[in-house]
Amino acid sequence: MSHNRGILVVEDEPAIADLVAFHLREEGWDPVVVAEGERALKLLQKTLPAAVILDLMLPDIDGIEILRRIRQTPQTKLLPVLILTARGEEADRVLGLEVGADDYLAKPFSPRELLLRLKKLVEGKGANAKPPVIRFGVLEVDEGRFRVKVGDDLVEVSATEMRLLVELLQNRGKVLSRQQLLQKAWGFMPNVTHRTIDTHVKRLRQKLGLAGNYIETVRGVGYRWLEEPPSEASPSAASKKALKNPQQRKRISRSTGETKK
Ligand code: CA
Repeated sequence: MSHNRGILVVEDEPAIADLVAFHLREEGWDPVVVAEGERALKLLQKTLPAAVILDLMLPDIDGIEILRRIRQTPQTKLLPVLILTARGEEADRVLGLEVGADDYLAKPFSPRELLLRLKKLVEGKGANAKPPVIRFGVLEVDEGRFRVKVGDDLVEVSATEMRLLVELLQNRGKVLSRQQLLQKAWGFMPNVTHRTIDTHVKRLRQKLGLAGNYIETVRGVGYRWLEEPPSEASPSAASKKALKNPQQRKRISRSTGETKK
């Protein structure tokens, strides 16, 4: 079980906030209640609770927007979020889940159900269940720590580039359409065009250097992370096997002090 018992409750209706906080305390949680979205976001910059219970209808920022910002911020992107709302409509539920809510409960709800779902969220996710580190040759992608390395070199990527990279690597060998990448890396963002995706992939390729050659453009469809080095015929053939070339390996071991000279 997580040692972190803090739960951020973002709820502007005092009666519901009190009810939720009461039941959370009964169960050993440590709730912090805020009524405005702006305050919630400020708090999340300073502290990281075990989970967030988020009302959608708030006086200042819409709950969906709060959720979007939580997911776009590297430190909070994996934070379990349960949406709690009076808006029981299908569209809101779908939008909430698309933007990255982990669970959803419509008002009126049973406090017991809320506690059960919260427990499941925190134990199934949270800080103890970080995504595994993905390794491919000398490329190392640690999404939990938000760190990408090619050999010894740290590569700075944006949150979107990280999601793109993880999606491509997790599906290596498979062609992902731009639509699939859009959904995975951006969530629900109607203003993102296919051209935006191309721009991000291009930038990601450049940042990854040699490893970037493994991102293949599949004309008219999308992109694929190659399992094998690009073919001889491709313009990037010069970098074939470069991920495993001895030069690079030497450089790495030198910096770890494992070889002399
Ligand atoms: Ca409300």
